[in-house]
Amino acid sequence: MARPDKEYKRNMSSIEIPVIAGDGIGPEITSAVLKIVDAAVRSTSLQLEWIPVVAGLSALEQGSELIPQRTMDEIARCGVALKGPCTTPVGEGFTSINVKLRKAFNLYAAVRPVRSMPGVETRYQNVDLIIIRENTEGLYSGVENEVTPGVVMSMKVASKAACQRIATWAFRFANRRGREKVTVLHKANIMKMTDGLFLKCASDVHANDYPNLAFESTIIDAGCMKLVQDPSQFDVLLLENLYGDVISDLCAGLVGGLGVVPGANIGEDLSIFEAVHGSAPDIAGRNIANPLALLMSSVMMLNFLAETRQLPELAESAELIRRSYDACMIHGEKTRDLGGELGTAEFADAVIARL
Ligand code: ATP
Repeated sequence: MARPDKEYKRNMSSIEIPVIAGDGIGPEITSAVLKIVDAAVRSTSLQLEWIPVVAGLSALEQGSELIPQRTMDEIARCGVALKGPCTTPVGEGFTSINVKLRKAFNLYAAVRPVRSMPGVETRYQNVDLIIIRENTEGLYSGVENEVTPGVVMSMKVASKAACQRIATWAFRFANRRGREKVTVLHKANIMKMTDGLFLKCASDVHANDYPNLAFESTIIDAGCMKLVQDPSQFDVLLLENLYGDVISDLCAGLVGGLGVVPGANIGEDLSIFEAVHGSAPDIAGRNIANPLALLMSSVMMLNFLAETRQLPELAESAELIRRSYDACMIHGEKTRDLGGELGTAEFADAVIARL
């Protein structure tokens, strides 16, 4: 977890949080989530001060850059942000917003809890996975070039420092959360150097620092098969960047889809909380998107603030929200993607009514 910063004082009553509403379904799910979080925090002595900042297509449309400097400055100043999904225009000249934010703030660990939800019928009812994805290297290095006309290549990068850092983070996280096993999914039989280094670093961190936890490694293609056969055989999954991206969506499918998987991007100095899903332009502006994944991400954010800034009231608010959306699920108050009938705004009202 990011270290507590002495600038963020315990006795402050207002906590500033930059919010990127994003593109596509971003604005509608963000507005639903802020309404719920404000209602939950209202019963505490604290107040959240949302600072709207822009990124993505909406920033471009306002005549700015994809990520304006003010957005970067505000996130750096506050040490935390809540982020809706942003669209990066396809084609050359635009670096992915997510990649840029993760690199700029060194958000090296993506954490994505994937759990069965009460009231959400899926093939499995016992899924409880934590995906930990290395966020800064691999095929996301951004080094691509045309070798010769008709032949292009992308560079997969792995550094010992980054592999050790994410492995240490993953084992420490697993240990602190009382998890039992860390599994690395890899392709070190083919990518002997890059995936080989990733695997070796994880294996060394386990042997040297966390022999109390179980550790295993599985080649990723076989791992995919095992995940869909019986996800309960896994606990914490540790993956390099691209595998983490793909496996996150696969695992989302085990628990009801992209509408129910939250995420945190954690660095040494700050963290950004966002849903795993993208901006889903196909359903944007129709009040049918599920805000739950972003709401769950905001619960992770409240728990993070509670822990790193010694604000236990926020952990209580987080628990209140969690219990309320669980109750909504159990009583069938769901959006369409989960088999319910509520719109985005109506779902937010249903959660608030149960706070
Ligand atoms: P990206 O490349 O950014 O991941 P994408 O278009 O590949 O974006 P998503 O935007 O995540 O993927 O969406 C994939 C599909 O999942 C969407 O078309 C939409 O139907 C569905 N979906 C995603 N998020 C939600 C949500 N919050 N509520 C309901 N459906 C969603």
